[in-house]
Amino acid sequence: MRVYNFSAGPSMLPEEVLKQAQAEFLDCGGSGMSVTEMSHRSKVYDAIIKEAEADLRKLMNIPDDYYVLFVQGGASMQFEAIPLNMLVKGKADYLVTGNFAKKAYKEGIKYGDMKAAASSEEATFTYIPKVTRKDFREDIDYVHYTANNTIFGTHFNYVPDAPAPLVSDMSSCILSETVDVSKFGVIYAGAQKNIAPAGVTIVIVRKDLCENPMPICPTMLKWSTQAENGSMYNTPPCFSIYMAGLVFKWLLKLGGTDAINKINVEKAKLLYDFIDNSKFYTNNVAKEDRSIMNVPFVAPNDDLNAKFVKEAAAEGLVTLKGHRLVGGMRASIYNAMPIEGVKKLVEFMKKFELENK
Ligand SMILES: *Cc1c(COP(=O)(O)O)cnc(C)c1O
Repeated sequence: MRVYNFSAGPSMLPEEVLKQAQAEFLDCGGSGMSVTEMSHRSKVYDAIIKEAEADLRKLMNIPDDYYVLFVQGGASMQFEAIPLNMLVKGKADYLVTGNFAKKAYKEGIKYGDMKAAASSEEATFTYIPKVTRKDFREDIDYVHYTANNTIFGTHFNYVPDAPAPLVSDMSSCILSETVDVSKFGVIYAGAQKNIAPAGVTIVIVRKDLCENPMPICPTMLKWSTQAENGSMYNTPPCFSIYMAGLVFKWLLKLGGTDAINKINVEKAKLLYDFIDNSKFYTNNVAKEDRSIMNVPFVAPNDDLNAKFVKEAAAEGLVTLKGHRLVGGMRASIYNAMPIEGVKKLVEFMKKFELENK
């Protein structure tokens, strides 16, 4: 039986995409071999990676003065790549709004004069600080922030106004909403939340920001290396890129990011409205900063939280346990989670409340 999987990542992929991958698995593009067996330099694979890039450019309306790079190492590797590629003056500001934001900041500190321009750690990251231009230093190379905080269930509902290129970790919200790429210097995302199986990381970077890597920047981390080699300086994560390509086509067919965003908003509203009207469940994130991708919530005590997770799993609603830093439950409802999954979860929550209040 296929379950509704609320995992924060790796997470659900569209069933249609999985079935297509299955159908093509032994013979990809008439090659007589699986995409996992073919040379990344082959004609068939060349078409796959080029089409994936073209489709992502279409979906996000990416301007021509940006590269789209398919790299490895996860979003976490970009925590290092960012300062190594971008520090010229040697200074950058970070918005510390969650666990991954803090990790990015900590990596940055190794390479330059970094400042946490704002943080919500004092309130265990339950809100997004409202920053303005004067919160940043003027002589910086970039501002880094995490658009969606996967663990704490918060989301920036605004694009910060910064005196330097904006670098945004969109690992858990890329393609869930429409963004204006031209407002950013760099957008990056690990694939395994909203795009594809783990393996590929997407980096969308304005071309001029690839020109001055620090001398110590490893060849493999230089964005220019990847750009000059069409993301094939070495063997790329072929299968993950292929799956990303199928997901991009699925999204295009659905009507793009505006269309999926409508569905995502509807899904999130079902869940938040139910939680807000219940005296049993709580979500303690500031309402205006709530994520539509990751919804953390708690029952009245830890025993009930554990019971909830166990009984939900028995009904095919799995991986609802919250992150260890937060406890309780977390429902990750990325693009691939059908609305039926959220409806079924809300029904289960109602039943559980009645039985346990
Ligand atoms: C999951 C996640 C990461 C870490 O991604 P990896 O690809 O595992 O390195 C970083 N940032 C955010 C916002 C995430 O959700």
